[in-house]
Amino acid sequence: MKQTAIRYVGEVDLNEKLGNILDEYKNGGYKQILFHVYSGVLDEALVVGVCRRLNEVFGTDMIVGTISAGEIKDGRLMDRGVLISAMMFESADVQVHRFESVSGFEKSIGSEICHLADGIPYIKALELMLPGTNLHTRALFEEISKCDKSIQVFGGYAGGHSMESSEHFVFDHNGIYSDMIFLVTYAGEDFHITVDKSVGWQTLGVPFKVTKADENRLIEVDGRPAVELYEKYMQIEADEHFAEETFEFPLMAELEGEELLRHTITVEDDGTLLLAGYVTEGMNIYLCYGAPAEIVKKVDTRLLEICDFQPEAILLYSCSVRKSFWEDFVNVEMQPFQHVAETVGFHTWGEVNRDKRNGNVLEYNITLMSIAMREGKADPKDKKHVHVDDSVLKGQASLIKRLTKLVYATTTELHKAYAELSDMNDKLQQIADCDGLTGLFNRRKTEQVIEKRFEDMRESGGQAGLIMLDIDYFKKINDTYGHAVGDETLKSVAKLMKEAVKDLENACTGRWGGEEFMVLVPDMGKDDTCMLAEKLRQMTEGYAFGCGEKITISLGVIAFDGKEDLQSVYITLDDALYSAKKQGRNRVAKA
Ligand code: GH3
Ligand code: MG
Ligand code: MG
Repeated sequence: MKQTAIRYVGEVDLNEKLGNILDEYKNGGYKQILFHVYSGVLDEALVVGVCRRLNEVFGTDMIVGTISAGEIKDGRLMDRGVLISAMMFESADVQVHRFESVSGFEKSIGSEICHLADGIPYIKALELMLPGTNLHTRALFEEISKCDKSIQVFGGYAGGHSMESSEHFVFDHNGIYSDMIFLVTYAGEDFHITVDKSVGWQTLGVPFKVTKADENRLIEVDGRPAVELYEKYMQIEADEHFAEETFEFPLMAELEGEELLRHTITVEDDGTLLLAGYVTEGMNIYLCYGAPAEIVKKVDTRLLEICDFQPEAILLYSCSVRKSFWEDFVNVEMQPFQHVAETVGFHTWGEVNRDKRNGNVLEYNITLMSIAMREGKADPKDKKHVHVDDSVLKGQASLIKRLTKLVYATTTELHKAYAELSDMNDKLQQIADCDGLTGLFNRRKTEQVIEKRFEDMRESGGQAGLIMLDIDYFKKINDTYGHAVGDETLKSVAKLMKEAVKDLENACTGRWGGEEFMVLVPDMGKDDTCMLAEKLRQMTEGYAFGCGEKITISLGVIAFDGKEDLQSVYITLDDALYSAKKQGRNRVAKA
């Protein structure tokens, strides 16, 4: 295959260049030709006219056009022009499909696309060209996601340099459309394609939770108006400059492990952020920043894959935010692709890609999506080795590069310290709450848990059982075998207690003091608690303690519902235990 790109500079020039392409197409043994037209010029008559010319000269309707926020020719930004790419294929089966009146029918059109794709032999990829942001692309993508997992999906959202809906349309030789989707299917036994995206933006600080959202509208974060994130942490006020001020600091949303960057298009009066992509309630989101060094590193990794793939043509569909971010340096990350193969593309209002792990087709922002194609086998000796040359990032960009490196390094350290600190806190809490010998809750913590249960029941009803147990003739063990063996015995009893309640959710076991223990079982009545106590008694009686001695326990049982006085519950329970001892030990006594 071969890709040729031309810039429209006038009728005469266009005719001449198309003539050359036609010759090459006819004489080169090609089977099919596909045209992409990317226009940063909003002149409807002009863009449709260019497509019509392509249709007349080549007698084909394989023409897909989109308005763009920046055109990419020879791997370089060609701002506000009309760019035509001609892709010529030797053996691939490439088809263009048009889906009209998409609004409201996204789901059914999505399943139509899915069926269509699955029915094409040797289907390799789907390209979607989407008009503005009025479509429910989530519903569309959910259906397309059901197509065979081996099919790659890529594409972009049309859009010029502003949010005006009049700037978001796709077009071809028949007209312009704001409610139509172009689908290009790429198939063929000998056709090969690799699609992936590079990001490189880094998260800042801790995650926040999306508590209220509606598609592209982020309403609340951690229960507060979304705009406060930027006001509090970035000192960016909700005024008319909000979108420009924040595009360098987009949000990153986590969806099933996939990182979706979202930049803000506008802020509403109530503090809601209108994002260039959907978010959902319960998602974690982070503030992010663009770090040139990290971005370049990610692009470099992708370049390596593309060099290995040895493509004959490359498409770059890059977010318009990247263009604004890099400003004069935008070619740094695009130019190297041209050294591998003819590179054409545009700056989008959203990128479409498929999550490789689960096959989900998703809308992304702020990515540089690279699509590399080839027909037939590649010759390994023609392999190119290309890297991003970031030596031009001097002055301001170099300063940003170093500062962001500093932020990245300190954030990483902060995250590590934060993790260590919370780990340490957990350990300290454990030390404060637990008995050092047995590992059960200590008296203080056990009392707290019982009190808490008591209060909960007083508020919302319910019941709970409590068992107090004491080892029989424990002094004798100490006196006969020594204190160390006594300690081991205490540990063994604690182990048996844990074992006895292991299937009871929320049960709590504690050391009350010396050789006295407590078991709290929420939601258990007196009879069941007695059965549990009896089970524990039998387990202890039958257990082979290390000292070889048969050891037993006595247990008192009480059930309560929170209406009693807690101190009197303890006294009554203590009395029950005392009566078990008095009746001869190794038994359960009900209060
Ligand atoms: P009873 O059946 O009436 O409960 O008799 P007993 O011997 O178990 O009761 P007593 O209260 O006379 O003795 C309890 C003993 O438990 C006394 C004390 O030295 C011992 N003890 C308390 N805490 C520990 C400990 O942490 N380790 C060891 N090894 N012994 C302990
Ligand atoms: Mg005892
Ligand atoms: Mg005792």
